[in-house]
Amino acid sequence: MDLVVQGARLPDGSGPVDVGIAAGRIAAIAATLPVDARALPADGCLLTPGLVETHVHLDKTCILDRCTASEGSVAEAVRLTAAAKASFTPEDVYARGRRTLERAIGWGTSRMRTHVEVDPGIGLRGFEGVQHLARDYAWAMDVELCVFPQEGLLNNPGTDELLVEGLRRGARVIGAVPYLDSDPRGQIDRIFAIAREWDVDIDMHLDMGDTPDGMQVEYVCRKTEQYGWGGRVAVGHVTQMSLVRPIRFAALAATLARAGVAVTVLPATDLYLMGRTHDHAVPRGVVNAGTLRAAGVTCSIATNNVMNPFTPYGDANLLRMANLYANVCQVARPDELAGCLHMITTDAARLLRAPDYGVRVGMPADLVLLDAPDAASAVAELAQPLWGMKAGRLTFTRPRPTLHPLDGRTGAGLRQQKW
Ligand SMILES: [Zn+2]
Repeated sequence: MDLVVQGARLPDGSGPVDVGIAAGRIAAIAATLPVDARALPADGCLLTPGLVETHVHLDKTCILDRCTASEGSVAEAVRLTAAAKASFTPEDVYARGRRTLERAIGWGTSRMRTHVEVDPGIGLRGFEGVQHLARDYAWAMDVELCVFPQEGLLNNPGTDELLVEGLRRGARVIGAVPYLDSDPRGQIDRIFAIAREWDVDIDMHLDMGDTPDGMQVEYVCRKTEQYGWGGRVAVGHVTQMSLVRPIRFAALAATLARAGVAVTVLPATDLYLMGRTHDHAVPRGVVNAGTLRAAGVTCSIATNNVMNPFTPYGDANLLRMANLYANVCQVARPDELAGCLHMITTDAARLLRAPDYGVRVGMPADLVLLDAPDAASAVAELAQPLWGMKAGRLTFTRPRPTLHPLDGRTGAGLRQQKW
């Protein structure tokens, strides 16, 4: 063994156990392991596999100093970002993306799918900056790129060729935004055609709107089944689904499950952008993943945007997104709260078809220690990650706060809290 994590609780409720790590992988898990290596005490805290971000835009993060929003609508966010993109360089994309990527690492994320815009306005400058970033931070994060046409495909000549060039240069996923295209179904058809030609997965922005009119989710499910792409298609937002009655919602959940189409909930963006047509009783616009998961749909919770016109907040903390989702969707049962952690770990890894994931013997030692005794508490109390590692090497540590009481004691009681 190179390292033994001592006394950790695991997400399935088992433990405390010792987890032995050798050559970057989990070599043994037992109630007690003989320590012939460096010991890392877990003090009964929750050891989970590294958090998995399925949907984040590194290329357009941290641009609020260049944009002045007044409406807070989707159309305005696209318009302001398109204007800002004109001055993006690969170096600028790298510098801004790095801020958000480093914060994500510090919150325990070690795997990420990042959506990158390509179109004649930005060309491949954003792609190049993010690809460089992915290479430089491979010590802490597995990053995969998803190229997509933010400003439309069929209405934006030249975009198609750039999507294909992105795939040729190593993007592993193709995305879409049908609701911003002059021909939504035409865009969906073309994206499926490219995906089949290049044998890549699909991750679409889908059905973002303030009414249930014009939803495309059933069409995407039909195409997925037609081409045998089940398990390889994800859709993000689907805020329109949050507006339909339970009987229709249940039917859509069954259709998604049968087709093998996964759903990503993006609570921060959906809460910010949706419901702008209401001046009171504003709908939340956040789809309820609990019902979808119960129907057998793979679901993840993700960040989407950080500090830009689509979401003028954020710190790339996935656990905060899980907590926000739980609060907004009124999740209370401990098993459902634990499910919110699954949606940023195991379920998110399944959505990405990530091989070798989990706290099991033989898996890579990509781990994070959360300052909580179990999954439900971690989500409810927004547990802080104490450290994270990739392939058995520590990538960050985050000490607990130390209090400084008046009587001069050191605050050791808080520091040494054991679960
Ligand atoms: Zn997005």
